[in-house]
Amino acid sequence: MSKTKSHRSNASARYHVVCRDCPTESVERTGVAAAQVRSEHVAETGHRVVVGALSGE
Ligand SMILES: [Zn+2]
Repeated sequence: MSKTKSHRSNASARYHVVCRDCPTESVERTGVAAAQVRSEHVAETGHRVVVGALSGE
C-alpha cells in the first residue's frame, strides 16, 4: 500500500453562473468569483441569477 495519498486538486471545478431573466451566463473557476459575478449582475439589473457547481472530470 502506498503511504502517500494522491490528493487530487479540484482545479477542474467550475461554477456556472446563469441569469434566469436574460441570456447572461458565465463560467468561473472559484465559488468566490462566481458569487461576485452573481452579486454584481443582481445589483445592476435586479435579475435572478443562479450559480451551479460543475464537477470536473
Ligand atoms: Zn440578467
